[in-house]
Amino acid sequence: MSKIIVAIDGPAGAGKSTIAKLVAGEIGADYIDTGAMYRAVALKLLRTGTDYNDPEALGTLLEAVDVDFSEGRTMLDGEDVSGLIRTPEISALASPSSAIPAVRYKLTDLQQEMGRRKSIVMDGRDIGTVVFPDADFKFFLTASADERARRRTNEMLEKGQEADFEQIKADIIQRDYQDSHREFRPLKKADDAIEIDSSDMTIQQVVDTMMSYIRGEA
Ligand code: C5P
Repeated sequence: MSKIIVAIDGPAGAGKSTIAKLVAGEIGADYIDTGAMYRAVALKLLRTGTDYNDPEALGTLLEAVDVDFSEGRTMLDGEDVSGLIRTPEISALASPSSAIPAVRYKLTDLQQEMGRRKSIVMDGRDIGTVVFPDADFKFFLTASADERARRRTNEMLEKGQEADFEQIKADIIQRDYQDSHREFRPLKKADDAIEIDSSDMTIQQVVDTMMSYIRGEA
């Protein structure tokens, strides 16, 4: 297959990263989790006590920040922060800080650079609309809020973490609201994206559906 770009957008907890990783494996592409990049910036804001509403302080932070991936790990200024960015605190901070245009410009540039030379499967909120509007394939993956909260709860319980279904559901709904109502580059289905509602589908069924489009069989 020649170089291709697959964009997968959708709300929190729809299974984007699990699916995107599997699709990337099938087509021999790199997987890029743009949510991890917004989370890494949020971690840096938190650690440095930077107010994202202070343009000067934010500008200084963004100029120096280095967000990258190495063998599937998320690297912030050379440090593996893959585990540290998966907390409710970071989820809650990543959503409002990612609404700031300067943050989005910075990470969009990095994301576009990552797709310049290699085949990639990239997941996020604005990949099909902004980062790669000319992507070869665009998918918009959704699931009901109940189902997304159920999956997140199970994931956390499996990892031995505490999980409160109602709290998780409320957090997901709030984050989706913020992400889809922000003024600048909100979470939105691209007009030409293929929408897949995974509420009643297995992971494999979603991967197979996407692969049938990518292979031109759908
Ligand atoms: O995908 P994930 O839930 O890890 O993303 C964390 C947050 O980062 C989202 O709630 C959203 O606010 C932001 N994000 C974004 N644009 C992307 C990916 C993530 O605004 N492309």
